[in-house]
Amino acid sequence: MLKPRWEKDAVQEREAFRDALAAWFSVNGKDYPWRRTSDPYAVLVSEVMLQQTQIATVLGRGFYTRFLEAFPDVRALAAAEDEPLLKAWEGLGYYRRARMLRDTARAVGEHHGGKFPEALEDLLGLPGVGRYTAGAVRAFAFDLPAAVVDGNVARAISRLMDFHGTVDDTAGLKKIWEWAETLADPARPRIFNSALMELGQTFCRPGVPDCLSCPVASFCRTRGPELLPVKRKKAEVTVVAEHALWLRDRKGRVLMHREQGKRREGLWRLPLRNAEEVVSLPVAASHRYTITRYRVDLSVHDGGISKAGEREGDEWKTPEEVLALPMSSPFRVVVERMLCEN
Ligand code: SF4
Repeated sequence: MLKPRWEKDAVQEREAFRDALAAWFSVNGKDYPWRRTSDPYAVLVSEVMLQQTQIATVLGRGFYTRFLEAFPDVRALAAAEDEPLLKAWEGLGYYRRARMLRDTARAVGEHHGGKFPEALEDLLGLPGVGRYTAGAVRAFAFDLPAAVVDGNVARAISRLMDFHGTVDDTAGLKKIWEWAETLADPARPRIFNSALMELGQTFCRPGVPDCLSCPVASFCRTRGPELLPVKRKKAEVTVVAEHALWLRDRKGRVLMHREQGKRREGLWRLPLRNAEEVVSLPVAASHRYTITRYRVDLSVHDGGISKAGEREGDEWKTPEEVLALPMSSPFRVVVERMLCEN
């Protein structure tokens, strides 16, 4: 692929590298809502949301704004009950992030008088806050020196430094973090880290990057950027079938199930049954979704109108109540479809 020649070393000539990146970003940087605030709480919410969800989803579907409207500060989030919390997180997936965020808010209230600490060690002492999140809060909220390495930054650094080790194991990550800390701009932490992330999101994107337009191409060592970063082999996808039961009673209520277990407690779904139990019932809706390394084929079997079939954890809910329950996206899709058609 076409790529400008490498002329300068990003680490050795880091002042020039930082200047080039900052100059580009000051003109071209995107205007995200979390870049308009220096409130550490709002920054933390955005960072946790963006950990496993794309910017377009977080922004396009209004998750960030809605969450901050529901829980505008640390105190409001610390006091949140499970159900409204999960409802505000609905559609983002990985629901333990919402509970962890609440744990963080509670710890800020209990140990820091409701005010976010600035010191790295204090931030790292908060539940759910690791090196990445602590660095992000320091840089983006407080404009304090910090390295912030997410997937976009790791990819850009691996190419800038022509690093052919794996970037997603302990040794590789250590190397990437070392470079990130050396490159980090102590004078403009907020701008520098935003710029480096955006470099990875735009020009230095996965696959074939746009090196001809890249503002730091003259600092980039690699000759084969499309081959980087090197990652560990992914686990194979396992296909599983899930069978849900759609049952209504004579009052028109729907049988729902409250989930248990650490990860999903407080969320609702249709009751699940073994394939043999529902094989004779017609499939009224189906939906395919992916979660971690599983591809799930969800079938909803229509059990008609019956009062029987209720099991532990199941509850009858009116359609209005059903729509107000916090639910994972796949079940939201099939439940809304069923309510529409029945
Ligand atoms: S887009 Fe990435 S790979 Fe290409 S020159 Fe810029 S930093 Fe290097």
